[in-house]
Parts: sequence; structure tokens; C-alpha cells
Amino acid sequence: MNKAVFLDRDGIINKKVPVKDWVKNVDELVYLPKVKEVINMIKRKGYLVIITSNQSGINRGIIKKENIEKINEKLKKDLDVDAIYYCPHLPDENCGCRKPKTGLIEKAVKDFNIDIKNSWFIGDNDYDMIAGKSAGCKTLMVDGNIGISQIENVLKVV
Ligand SMILES: [Mg+2]
Ligand SMILES: [Zn+2]
Repeated sequence: MNKAVFLDRDGIINKKVPVKDWVKNVDELVYLPKVKEVINMIKRKGYLVIITSNQSGINRGIIKKENIEKINEKLKKDLDVDAIYYCPHLPDENCGCRKPKTGLIEKAVKDFNIDIKNSWFIGDNDYDMIAGKSAGCKTLMVDGNIGISQIENVLKVV
């Protein structure tokens, strides 16, 4: 089985935008500091790196499907991530994949044969923590204004 580090996207990998706005195209994707380096550190420790992200802007009609695909292509080109899963649904669509639900994580677990107990979820809000815990991951909350570089020093010693 594989172990994985699940990452939220906005506030972990790239800069957050104000509430009720979204990263709508590649030009609006601005990386937080040291993202590439820290993901490489995680990979060297033998974890898959999997992004899971709520992107309700898609079904709100604010993010075009083709643009989310381009954003995901860029993320995969720039960063050593194994997969990207996102939920396009609005809260009132009651899907099974919008965090704090666990659908995105569960799909990844099946696709990559992941040992969930030895995996982590790193996010910047309660939804991430609830989703991670409900799925059976260990969880880590970081400051969404700083992002994943916050765990660099932890990774150096573990
Ligand atoms: Mg976030
Ligand atoms: Zn969904």
C-alpha cells in the first residue's frame, strides 16, 4: 500500500482569494513560498502527494471547465504532485465529495491503494480537518496565508 499526503489547494499551494471569489484561470494562480521545495521534501519521504480541493466556482458558472483543466495541467507541470481531485459542486447540491465530506479522499484511496492510517491531510480550515479525520488520516492545520512552507521545519526533523 502507499502512504499519501493530501493537500488542500488554496491557502496551501497558492494564494487564497477573497471569500466568494475563486482562482478562475492560470493567471490568477499565484504560488505561496517554497511550495515546490516542500512538496519535493514530502516526496523524498516516500509519500504520494495528492491535491483535493473544493471548487464550487465551477458549478456557480464562475470558473470555466477548460480553465480548471489548464490550472491542473500547470500544477502538475510545476509541482511533483501525483493527482488532483476537485469538487465542482455547490454546498446545496449535497454531493459526497465537497469537503468536509470524504468523497475526494476516498476516490484517491481507491485509485492509489492508499494506507489511510499512515497518511496525512494538510489544510487551512476546519473543512479540511474534518474531511481528513473522517477519512481516517492524521491531520495538520497550517496558516492559509503562509501555506505549506510552514511545515518545512517539521519535515527536516521527522
Ligand atoms: Mg484552503
Ligand atoms: Zn462534490
